[in-house]
Amino acid sequence: METTSRNFIEQMIDKDLEEGVYKAVCTRFPPEPNGYLHIGHAKSILLNYGLAQQYGGKFNLRFDDTNPTKEKTEFVESIKEDIAWLGADWEDRLYFASDYFGQMYECAVKLIKKGKAYVCDLTADQIREYRGTLTEPGKESPYRNRSVEENLELFENMKNGCYADGEKVLRAKIDMASPNINMRDPVIYRVARMTHHNTGDKWLIYPMYDFAHPIEDAIEGVTHSICTLEFEDHRPLYNWVVEECEFENKPRQIEFAKLYLTNVVTGKRYIKKLVEEGIVDGWTDPRLVSIAALRRRGFTPESIKMFVDLVGVSKANSSVDYAMLEYCIREDLKMKAPRLMAVLDPVKLVIDNYPEGESEILSIENNLENPELGMRQVEFGRELYINRDDFMEEPPKKYFRLFPGNEVRLMGAYFVKCVGCEKDENGNVTTVHCTYDPETKCGSGFSARKVKGTIHWVNAKTAFKAQVRLYENLIDEEKGVYNPDGSLNLNPNSRTILNDCMLEPALKEAEPEDHFQFVRTGFFCADSKDSQPGAPVFNRIVSLKSSFKLPKKED
Ligand code: ATP
Ligand code: MG
Repeated sequence: METTSRNFIEQMIDKDLEEGVYKAVCTRFPPEPNGYLHIGHAKSILLNYGLAQQYGGKFNLRFDDTNPTKEKTEFVESIKEDIAWLGADWEDRLYFASDYFGQMYECAVKLIKKGKAYVCDLTADQIREYRGTLTEPGKESPYRNRSVEENLELFENMKNGCYADGEKVLRAKIDMASPNINMRDPVIYRVARMTHHNTGDKWLIYPMYDFAHPIEDAIEGVTHSICTLEFEDHRPLYNWVVEECEFENKPRQIEFAKLYLTNVVTGKRYIKKLVEEGIVDGWTDPRLVSIAALRRRGFTPESIKMFVDLVGVSKANSSVDYAMLEYCIREDLKMKAPRLMAVLDPVKLVIDNYPEGESEILSIENNLENPELGMRQVEFGRELYINRDDFMEEPPKKYFRLFPGNEVRLMGAYFVKCVGCEKDENGNVTTVHCTYDPETKCGSGFSARKVKGTIHWVNAKTAFKAQVRLYENLIDEEKGVYNPDGSLNLNPNSRTILNDCMLEPALKEAEPEDHFQFVRTGFFCADSKDSQPGAPVFNRIVSLKSSFKLPKKED
């Protein structure tokens, strides 16, 4: 029995299959290679791939490379990598829309022959002027009634380079009085002398998106062409093209709402601007929500899938809290990631009564909640590092960590009692002193007294120094994304680089993209760009605490 309700797309597909409109399902993801993919695209990829999986159908990857000016091969590669990383498998169905330029041209010729398309000499401005408005019908072009023969000849001339860019276009002949402006004789081909990354200088004319896209879908046998809401008004044109070009396969366009994150810059164009203006460090800067950046920051494909599932698909635009994405990575990593000790702001702790020169090996769980991750050996000794804020000379009320006279547990080791501290000439604490009680060794069953605080530590002798980066939102959330003048409200603290962190030695072997919990601190990931063998650099993915509550399911 169904336990979850079907979303509106599934309901439409169910109906199509029931009624025999299609025998099998084929979806596609059609990125334009003009930038890196972002979290919104992840939603579209996982949706399309998920539907193909669910119905035992096919999922195609098709580069929508019909607009040569903005496209780059670099983007083709990054897009493939991101989709594969998300786990969406296009198998052997990697397509380029530009491979269909020949067929698109044939379709245009077919329309001309049917009297459904004409070459128009109006300028772009005139076309706009003739198009009318939402309340007023458009005016027919004086070139609308050219003969089929003349149109065929002129279109061929367009193809052969007889005209300058913009001098002539091919338009579909539909209805200048249509209440839908998209149906008022839209331009379907333009003259443009541009070198294409795939077809080079072969073509001097290029098809427009609204004409090209349905043809691409129809050729590939796509059944459900899922796109975002802004194309809803284009659907009649989509259907017109499929119908008039007489494709046997008639794909159905279905629209859903884009994914937006509150106070986060999504949108390829906007991310590109941040990259080009040097506000961030390239497309993979861990503060961005491009897929490559999320990956570098430490998000996993599983966490992104969980997020996309939680958000669901809808017909209404809305914006989701970034905290929900953070919730998903915490959920994903809490059992999977080993929990190790890292001291981000170290101060020395000396155990005065621990014999000098001696050490011992302690066995510590890698993840208290998940015994499957096993134990590790940690060396303990007389000199340690603890976090600076785990000691206070004059503590406020309810401070249960180290202060003179107070006893705490050193995680996985012993109880220690603070006996004082040393300071430099500026009054900064340089060393904290304590004594330990050998009876209280962790795992010894000691229970004669309790302490209220547990703090983590690393051994001064075996710890290594590493860089750790803390991230916050790029945007100052108090003020919203944009200033009145259109500039971004940047958060000056979006990245904090800590160079003197002391980490336990097990972290030294971290490979790029390895995930960890640093106990009491957060989830971290070894940076894939700046880590060196034996010298990892860590990115904070998210802190441990969250204000996000999963909304209650309605029944
Ligand atoms: P952007 O607006 O960020 O530039 P785009 O729509 O121009 O994105 P394309 O490469 O054309 O980028 O999009 C590929 C697919 O991803 C399209 O089917 C598009 O509808 C979908 N898509 C783009 N942005 C989002 C989003 N925020 N949420 C869901 N799907 C999206
Ligand atoms: Mg686009």
